[in-house]
Amino acid sequence: MQRKRVIIVGGGYAGVQALKVLADSGLCDVVLIDQHPYHYLQTETYELIANECSMTRVTIDLVALCLSYGEHVTYIKDTVRGIDFESKCISGENTCHLYDYALLCAGSRTAYNGSITGLREYSHGVKTLPSALAFKQQFEQRLYRRMESEGGWCSEPFNVVIGGGGLSGVEIAAEMAHYIRIFHEDNTLTCDNIHIFLVIPHERVLEGMEEYLITKATKRLLKLGVKIINHSRITSVEEHALTVNGTNKICFDFMIFTGGIVASTFTGRLEVEKNKKSQLIVDKFLRIPLYDCIFAAGDIAELRDLTGKLLPPTAQLAEQSGMCAANNILALLQGRAMKVSNIQMQGTMIALGGNYASVSLLGWIKISGGIGHVIRTIIMRSYRYRLHIQCAKGVNKTAKSRSRCGF
Ligand SMILES: Cc1cc2nc3c(=O)[nH]c(=O)nc-3n(C[C@H](O)[C@H](O)[C@H](O)COP(=O)(O)OP(=O)(O)OC[C@H]3O[C@@H](n4cnc5c(N)ncnc54)[C@H](O)[C@@H]3O)c2cc1C
Repeated sequence: MQRKRVIIVGGGYAGVQALKVLADSGLCDVVLIDQHPYHYLQTETYELIANECSMTRVTIDLVALCLSYGEHVTYIKDTVRGIDFESKCISGENTCHLYDYALLCAGSRTAYNGSITGLREYSHGVKTLPSALAFKQQFEQRLYRRMESEGGWCSEPFNVVIGGGGLSGVEIAAEMAHYIRIFHEDNTLTCDNIHIFLVIPHERVLEGMEEYLITKATKRLLKLGVKIINHSRITSVEEHALTVNGTNKICFDFMIFTGGIVASTFTGRLEVEKNKKSQLIVDKFLRIPLYDCIFAAGDIAELRDLTGKLLPPTAQLAEQSGMCAANNILALLQGRAMKVSNIQMQGTMIALGGNYASVSLLGWIKISGGIGHVIRTIIMRSYRYRLHIQCAKGVNKTAKSRSRCGF
């Protein structure tokens, strides 16, 4: 019997876990399509921005990863534009990729609200690796130029505004505040006039998260000197100033926007049910209703727990849903019954600048500070380490085949 072809679109947290489940089963041919040849570890972005690690520490090579799983797994670099459900074809830039089953894991992007004029034009994002790198370079250059022009004293304030008080906004604000403090302490250019503003629409940061995390994060941000401007909705942005609530102006030298997400662009072209964030509505097996062979996992889908409660877009839920959808594809391949998705938050870890993190795990472990940072680091590093070990098998295979070919 001919082997079935399963296509995974997107090699992020969901796609990479699904890849492992499908590849390890040996039951099908697996094709991973991603517009980039790397898996970007978004959860470690703050370290990149804070100069604590290089680009290679926040990426996993998808080519090596696919090679490591053997001949039945292929990586294709392409940007998916749409899906023809009738002919079971995923269309890329120039080609059509035929599938028997498809798993959509193309994630999300920053929600630049179109009604906020100037937002996309004058603010930076960190959701993709190119945007995080551009942000880092431009921030440092602008800061340096400013200090040079002022003879190293930075007498005029240098304002950094971060829009959005969710997990990524808080992590970036804390990390930048910490980084600037170190920069000030270590650098020969004496500039202690840099201010970080966190502009949030709600009363407090991390709206909807547990009290422990909100309290710890707020305390830490204030200690690092971050100014939290609450009850403030950004209504327009100009080159060096933004307006909140339609009236109050905040001047900035640099702005980052992290206020929410919408699903990957290509869901806009799919004629299936979606929510306001363009996320795909999935059934209890993570399948797209009406289409038996298409599943979705991670940020691209509207994920719910067993009670029907909406779940936040996080890496851990992307991983769990990727595995669940892949197992359900295997169940269909083997003629077994599919399992209802039982994904759930197992905890939250927030990096809060330097060697400080707040961790709440399994409902009862609550730790902040250096130990929290150690726990977070171990969990994050073990994720990366496992993937690096797997990739190394792919790299070895390439080296062997090259030496056989006389390279
Ligand atoms: C700064 C920051 C910090 C964060 N911190 C945390 C944290 O501490 N803990 C946590 O749990 N979560 C955190 N998150 C959220 C977490 O990163 C996301 O929820 C997670 O990445 C979602 O995984 P995913 O697999 O759905 O999508 P992604 O990881 O975004 O992967 C999607 C993949 O699809 C590819 N793709 C997209 N569109 C196309 C297309 N059209 N064609 C081909 N390929 C495509 C992309 O290149 C990408 O490789 C953070 C996010 C950010 C930005």
